[in-house]
Amino acid sequence: EESVAKHYKKATVPKKPRNPIDIAKYLETSKPHLSFVVLGHVDAGKSTLMGRLLYDIGAVESGKIRKLKKESESIGKGSFHLAWVMDQTAEERERGVTVSICTSDFETEKSNFTIVDAPGHRDFVPNAIAGVSQADVAVLSIDCGTDAFESGFDLDGQTKEHTILAKSMDVNYIIVAMNKMDSVNWSQDRFNDIKNKLGAFFKDLGFYEDQIRWVPLSGFSGAGVYKSPYPTEQNWYNGPNLVSTLENVAQNVGLEAKKDVLDRPFLFSILELINSKKSDEAVVSGRVESGSIQPGEALTIYPSEQSVIVDKILSGRDKKQAQIATKGDFVTLKLRQAFPEDIRSGDLCASVDYEISASQTFKLQMLTFKMNRPLLPGTPIMLFRGVVEQPARITKLVSIVDKKDPNVIIKSKVRHLASNQAAVVEIELTEKKRQIPMLRFDAKKHLGRVVSRKDGRTIATGKVLDL
Ligand code: GDP
Repeated sequence: EESVAKHYKKATVPKKPRNPIDIAKYLETSKPHLSFVVLGHVDAGKSTLMGRLLYDIGAVESGKIRKLKKESESIGKGSFHLAWVMDQTAEERERGVTVSICTSDFETEKSNFTIVDAPGHRDFVPNAIAGVSQADVAVLSIDCGTDAFESGFDLDGQTKEHTILAKSMDVNYIIVAMNKMDSVNWSQDRFNDIKNKLGAFFKDLGFYEDQIRWVPLSGFSGAGVYKSPYPTEQNWYNGPNLVSTLENVAQNVGLEAKKDVLDRPFLFSILELINSKKSDEAVVSGRVESGSIQPGEALTIYPSEQSVIVDKILSGRDKKQAQIATKGDFVTLKLRQAFPEDIRSGDLCASVDYEISASQTFKLQMLTFKMNRPLLPGTPIMLFRGVVEQPARITKLVSIVDKKDPNVIIKSKVRHLASNQAAVVEIELTEKKRQIPMLRFDAKKHLGRVVSRKDGRTIATGKVLDL
């Protein structure tokens, strides 16, 4: 079996929406949408914070909370019930070649939000990669407890690795949840000390100050998260709490997304194929990567290259029918004239007049991280694109280029790649059964971005130059 692509009917002529709506007008009146992933060191309070957020916002039924609380008390860990909320709301998915991603939607007066989560192995780096690949921004949870910050921020700490990943995967905003502030009596000195150290690191990575937000909070008590006020000890921070900060960032991200909706073709990442009883129907959930789609329109799914009709769009926590889905939205699509047996998570959809290739070989501009030993041609690596991971190998080292300007070739006879180098390389996917649909980085930043790992370490990020 060389390839999954059977000969399906591929349409090239777009179909009109069933009940077309005025997209520009819709954009004017709709709330901005923001997706975010929660990153940070193990025990930094990520799960507790997400549970607190969903609970305070009212996105979890109180019956469910009571049940979790009882369970956690029965094992003598009363505070754990919050940490379990995310794992309960998000159903566990089957693990395969894709990293399972779950989403939780919630809404405030000003914005719609999606938390992107990879439950089960939240501290596992491939999950962080998959999560970051689907999120607009990252919330970085920092344990401000005495010494805890230092241990998490050590050279190989996850806080660092997650931040580097977020930066190299083009995340534009980092919201630092300065968490567990209750454990240091809301000390301003502690807050500033950590902020200075982390801030210097962000700057080194190339983040600008206005891309970073700092919010003192306690996921545990809820202070600084949503409506819970700060205790009296905290009399030095007057800025927005976590949810207000998310709303502010959503506003910025929403403005950028609007331009994209009107100008760009429809692209969609499939995160999950949901069972359907009808044989020619496929139900898929995923993220609109660019443009927009309405019921009645046609799209093509890659790599199988089957063209299907969008019958329904379901969105939000209660899966309401929507008239349109636009860039950044997480929705479920009911598709007609489909062959679900050839659809998998990680597949891409596009408007029928847009072509996506699923190539086994491609040219990559790579940026290596700190590695234990140099990278040689032929070395097997693991390649990640969005939620898909695939074994691959470097077939050729083309050139070493300038890190700042990749058009400047520094060396063209290359035997190996060392740490912290920029290079152009040729890659081959070694698993022939499964193709990864991919776009060039200059066609769609987000989908032309890969991360490579080897022996359990992230060794490089890359931009797809040529397919
Ligand atoms: P995760 O591994 O990042 O998901 O961290 P958890 O949410 O599981 O929390 C790790 C530990 O920190 C647990 O024992 C929590 O009870 C505790 N914790 C979480 N949030 C807070 C907080 O705001 N204040 C304090 N003092 N402890 C917290």
